[in-house]
Amino acid sequence: MTIEVGINGYGTIGKRVADAVRAQPDMEVVGVAKTRPNFEAEQAVANDFPLYAAVPERVEQFDEAGIELAGKVEELVQNSEIVVDTTPSGIGAENKAMYEEYDTPALYQGGEDAELVDVSFNARANFAEAEGADHTRVVSCNTTGLSRLIAALDEEYGVEKVRATLVRRGGDPAQSSRGPINDTLPDPVTIPSHHGPDVNTIFPDLDIDTLGMKVPATLTHTHSVNVELTDETDTEEVRGLLAGESRLFVIPEHMGIDGSGKLKEFALDSGRPRGDVWENAIWGESITVEGGDELYLFQAIHQESDVVPENVDAIRAVLGTADRRESIERTNEALGMGLGR
Ligand code: NAD
Repeated sequence: MTIEVGINGYGTIGKRVADAVRAQPDMEVVGVAKTRPNFEAEQAVANDFPLYAAVPERVEQFDEAGIELAGKVEELVQNSEIVVDTTPSGIGAENKAMYEEYDTPALYQGGEDAELVDVSFNARANFAEAEGADHTRVVSCNTTGLSRLIAALDEEYGVEKVRATLVRRGGDPAQSSRGPINDTLPDPVTIPSHHGPDVNTIFPDLDIDTLGMKVPATLTHTHSVNVELTDETDTEEVRGLLAGESRLFVIPEHMGIDGSGKLKEFALDSGRPRGDVWENAIWGESITVEGGDELYLFQAIHQESDVVPENVDAIRAVLGTADRRESIERTNEALGMGLGR
């Protein structure tokens, strides 16, 4: 039995999720929906994804561009066992009524409010909580990156407090309208940033403060993280623990990866589709435990792709077709997770 998955919104996240779902032995993409007949719509058709019009009034535009449609988005929702909504922030909320009308469970992305959904999801941290949910939110790239790390540390040592500064990319490489182009912005200038409360949608009792910045970069976010642990440990032990996590890539010193540029180059050289880095990339030399319980590290988060395996796992979690361990293993194997291993 293959799970029939529809994808509404075929942009940065949607096209990656479509490829990742197609790679799973237990899933099939029944179609993708798009608003405009742009280059991504062309590519969807070239990749044999049935293409549906997300806005019925724009069907003509696809006809004029010579792009063949399989139907309208309502038909896609009706034909899907589950829909992954990868539309821009706020559009998912507008689509909720349509998913309810066809009784199709939906996954939303981190740009939607936590209040929209029954459960916010991270595979490593709270997989089982999504079973049977009608509306599930796969948390943002930054929250995913923090949650994977916190889940591993909390399980092993307990966590008293997290303090993280998120140095965020101004926009994705294709977002020509984003910035800043020559500035460094405290963003938001108020503290804490919204990221801490978002992490609390996954770990409700966690004590966490986050500070946000925006810089003229497009490749990744970079986090500077300090975690106060409950049990004492040392640097080597933490490095070993993190290196053992399948979605954490501890960058070995000898690789000479000094920033996001070389990290992305390594991903491209490794044959990763679109140069994607699905794992948190943690600089091995940065992992430092002071006084037995204060952990420090730097990690890069590839904003365009770290949520992709999480969406795949959320599909199985909602439909109850696998448990956490099984799903993560299946997703990892089908995608080829394990950069540098
Ligand atoms: P995007 O703009 O790259 O892609 C969105 C796609 O949806 C586009 O193809 C757009 O044409 C299409 N679309 C617009 N209106 C639509 C509608 N009404 N129905 C169907 N499709 C419609 O955006 P994205 O970066 O992929 O972001 C999607 C979601 O993922 C947002 O919630 C965002 O916050 C979240 N997210 C983005 C990133 C990132 O770095 N890009 C990371 C994690 C999560």
